[in-house]
Amino acid sequence: MDSADAAKVRELLDQPQKIVIIPHKNPDGDAMGSCLGLHNFLTSIGIESDVIAPNDYPKFLKWLPGDAKVLNFERENSQAKRKIEEATLIFTLDFNHLSRAGQLEEPLSASKANFIMIDHHQQPDSYALITYSDVRMSSTCEMVYNFIESLNGTNSIDAAIATCLYTGIMTDTGSFKFRSTTGRTHRIVADLIDKGADNTQIHQNVFDTNSAGRLQLLGAALKNMVILQDFRSAYITLSQDDLDTNNFKKGDTEGFVNYGLTLENVVFSTIFIENKDEGIIKISFRSVGDFSVNEFARAHFHGGGHTNAAGGRSTDDMATTVKKFVALLATYKTQLVP
Ligand code: 5GP
Ligand code: MN
Repeated sequence: MDSADAAKVRELLDQPQKIVIIPHKNPDGDAMGSCLGLHNFLTSIGIESDVIAPNDYPKFLKWLPGDAKVLNFERENSQAKRKIEEATLIFTLDFNHLSRAGQLEEPLSASKANFIMIDHHQQPDSYALITYSDVRMSSTCEMVYNFIESLNGTNSIDAAIATCLYTGIMTDTGSFKFRSTTGRTHRIVADLIDKGADNTQIHQNVFDTNSAGRLQLLGAALKNMVILQDFRSAYITLSQDDLDTNNFKKGDTEGFVNYGLTLENVVFSTIFIENKDEGIIKISFRSVGDFSVNEFARAHFHGGGHTNAAGGRSTDDMATTVKKFVALLATYKTQLVP
């Protein structure tokens, strides 16, 4: 964050504010880690704030320091609505378009508060007074660290803040392996460990708390995987029936899409997950190298994200969606198989 913006933030925080912090819909580790990291930081410097999630999130994130204070807009609707109406300063973290806040889009659009966006996705919208957007960043959590640093606040980072920020950097970098992971990312992570983030415990809390149902669902997903070697692509389908048979809980399919990329010579992996309640197929896209799944998701599946990780959706049924997808691959063949 540049020094002019940092000065503006300081000025805002020097005045009494009613502060709300918002992650995107279906919050992931980076979204919850950044919101709670910022919330805990503000608390440590004597400033109150509320974190309001648009909807529920996986159990493997519900141990983050401060989690008990998070309001769920679906569950605590009237209380959360009131907080947003009364807010004078709203941080939106890990997203850059209000539509990514799901049901919160409407109250956020109606709000007269000043907005501060901290985010690393492409093509940010212009709703914020202060837009700290940088697509080169590994994670929003890394950016919250930078944000704290630009307020000269790193001495206030305690174990709780460090734990939240470590978690989001870890999940958004695929445990420090994606190309967005830089030397600076590691230096920040080193500082977070020095300040009390227990790296072994965090990995265990996030990755080693599987239910039997989740592993069985993974088995079903891998069985359903189709490999299209001609396009260096693979895709997985999970029907509502697959989910129901394996006692699906929110978050259970997190990371399944990455298995496609563990195949030799596969650079594009997709998972289609049926959601009968919402009448949609939720899609996740991942790639390695130059093939932009952000552009693919934007152009064909009402979505977006990053070059190598994006999401989207389809309102067609599974068979129609997959058929459309496979037909599209032919038109991208020169990009997929250079
Ligand atoms: P996931 O596949 O894990 O849901 O999302 C991968 C990445 O794409 C995340 O950074 C997420 O924020 C972004 N993303 C997921 N779904 C959508 C969507 O529908 N629209 C946009 N613009 N981004 C999405
Ligand atoms: Mn993120």
